[in-house]
Amino acid sequence: MAEFDIIDLIRDRCALAREDVRLGIGDDAALLAMPAGQLLAVSTDTLVEGVHFLPDTAPFDLGWKALAVNLSDLAAVGATPAWATLALTMARAERGWVAAFADGFAALAREFKLALVGGDTTSGPLSVTLTVHGFVPEGAALRRGGARIGDAVIVTGTLGDAAAGLSLLRQPDGGPQGAQDNAGDDSRPEPAPAQETARSALLMRLRRPAPRVAQGLLLRGRASACIDVSDGLVADLGHVCAASGAGAEIEAERLPASSALLQLFEADARRTFQLSGGDDYELCFTVPDAGEAAVLAALARSGCAATRIGRIIAEPGVRVRDAAGRRIAVARPGWEHFS
Ligand code: ADP
Ligand code: MG
Repeated sequence: MAEFDIIDLIRDRCALAREDVRLGIGDDAALLAMPAGQLLAVSTDTLVEGVHFLPDTAPFDLGWKALAVNLSDLAAVGATPAWATLALTMARAERGWVAAFADGFAALAREFKLALVGGDTTSGPLSVTLTVHGFVPEGAALRRGGARIGDAVIVTGTLGDAAAGLSLLRQPDGGPQGAQDNAGDDSRPEPAPAQETARSALLMRLRRPAPRVAQGLLLRGRASACIDVSDGLVADLGHVCAASGAGAEIEAERLPASSALLQLFEADARRTFQLSGGDDYELCFTVPDAGEAAVLAALARSGCAATRIGRIIAEPGVRVRDAAGRRIAVARPGWEHFS
């Protein structure tokens, strides 16, 4: 495919009308109308093959995830998604691959009424850079720096599933296998159906994260600080602490785990995935004690479980304690490039 065929294919598959897009893909720049009284929230995330995703990742999943991780950043500041630009670099341009990639992107974009308004298409090692734009009323954005001593620390959903899913893919035998992965290999015992279900659930969390956009909007005016958990809970909560000039104490026993994670992994592995695994795309936020019950109730009404995992303390850094109150050392708080 030639460059302009690729752009046409992406534009056609991602078509979504928004009144505020006065000029979309096709010209030298998009022309976009801002709603009055709102600030523009802008965030960029890159996914590089071999760094952020495995080389055999399905293109649909890659298109979905590139948008999901960016929407997660908008969720963390409490912004409503509106527009995106896509910089796509590929070694080869295969029509089927590009179509599936665009379909994965479009599936999630439609859910959030987000319009793809431009981008860039280049040849090179596979890499996807997305910039998303959203709206937030002046003064309403969630920030990392507002946590106060005594605030509750809460996370949405469950932690560790995506990292556990990645560890399954990295096991030499593929871990507790699904039937299709196992095709043609008679030497292996058949996995129990419940194990297959759990394995699929963890892989879905890795491949198709669901950004907590609705929850970010609910947290406006309620949370004192917020971040999305992308690199690992301890690392990301550490950013909230540093920005807020405080620390946090979390109880490992309280960390929310999915039934799939409980089923397939022992306590030590679970804890590592939950504390520092990354790729969760849950929100971690703080709220004054007095507001905790109301915020948990509002999140529950939105269909999202949330769990209090600890509190903000004066001493800097993130401390993790076990059920007996002993401190747990965290070897690697989260993913970091160049380290
Ligand atoms: P220019 O060379 O002037 O920067 P391009 O030829 O790169 O413009 O792009 C032509 C049009 O297609 C522009 O509107 C650009 O935003 C859009 N575009 C290019 N690549 C992508 C992409 N991967 N996704 C969405 N829009 C794209
Ligand atoms: Mg130009």
